[in-house]
Amino acid sequence: KAKEKSCCSYVIFDRQEHPKDQSHIAIEPELINAIRRNEFELFYQPRIDIASGNIIGAEGLIRWRHPEKGLIYPDAFIPTAERTGLIVPIGYWVIQQAGQDLQRIAASGLSIERLSVNLSFRQFQDSYLCRTIQRLINKYTIDTSILEFELTESALFNNEVHVQEGIEELHTLGINFSLDDFGTGYSSFSLLQKLPISSLKIDRSFVSGVMTNTDDREIVKALIRLAHSLNKEIIAEGVETKQQLNFLSRYGCHQAQGYLYSKPIPYEEFVYLLEHGYQLKEESAATQ
Ligand code: C2E
Ligand code: MG
Ligand code: MG
Ligand code: MG
Repeated sequence: KAKEKSCCSYVIFDRQEHPKDQSHIAIEPELINAIRRNEFELFYQPRIDIASGNIIGAEGLIRWRHPEKGLIYPDAFIPTAERTGLIVPIGYWVIQQAGQDLQRIAASGLSIERLSVNLSFRQFQDSYLCRTIQRLINKYTIDTSILEFELTESALFNNEVHVQEGIEELHTLGINFSLDDFGTGYSSFSLLQKLPISSLKIDRSFVSGVMTNTDDREIVKALIRLAHSLNKEIIAEGVETKQQLNFLSRYGCHQAQGYLYSKPIPYEEFVYLLEHGYQLKEESAATQ
């Protein structure tokens, strides 16, 4: 009973839940091999403070270095990992890799304010989630004020009490939370206010339309205003042009991520950017 009350109560995986994902089922055994053979890599996409232009941190994004097929992107295997529950060990790999890299960043005399990784709601179904994360925090002496978990609206607002309890407990460890792909799902504003979510990430689909689509422009303005009034940090994803950046800046968006600054890159390249800075895509193109 006490165990059920604690951090993350256990729920049995329902394999029938997402029949439309069946096409991915063939890669399940390969995914198990990938975990055993340690074929994953964590790439980093810089997160920029719009006002200063400084890199304040990064989002860690998983890639699978397949021995024959080459680099495989998360959209091709995360749905299978979620459906089968393999996202639990994969998710721990991501957090331990982020912890290890944070340690290396500190050891090279550099510092970042924020490092986020994506957390799938399925990971909350592991009753050891909080204990395991606590263990990783201790192992890599992770400063939890730097660590952020990105969650999607569906994970947060489909009334899964154990997810909300898990968030609360992880928050007591000092971990930050952000709402990913904001605007694409259903948000409960009262819950958004109640849960310890410090930042909102505007989905790329809206950002990409701000210069061409009136609806997208109004939605982005409304999302920024909402973040301001809820007193939350607001981050734009998928910023690709200087015009989009100027628009976001004008309406008070705090941070940005996107190809304008950098694609997700391997750890070594990210550290290089931390040391030497970046060049805006268009500016670098103009000087060529
Ligand atoms: P996300 O968390 O919303 O990540 C943003 C995605 O947008 C990334 O795709 C990133 O490469 C891409 N992106 C960023 N800036 C731009 C841009 O300017 N233009 C364009 N066209 N794309 C941009 P990626 O790395 O393929 O990841 C896709 C999704 O897979 C992520 O969406 C996230 O939901 C999921 N994912 C990635 N890594 C993990 C992980 O470690 N665990 C879990 N559970 N999910 C992950
Ligand atoms: Mg994300
Ligand atoms: Mg996103
Ligand atoms: Mg996304």
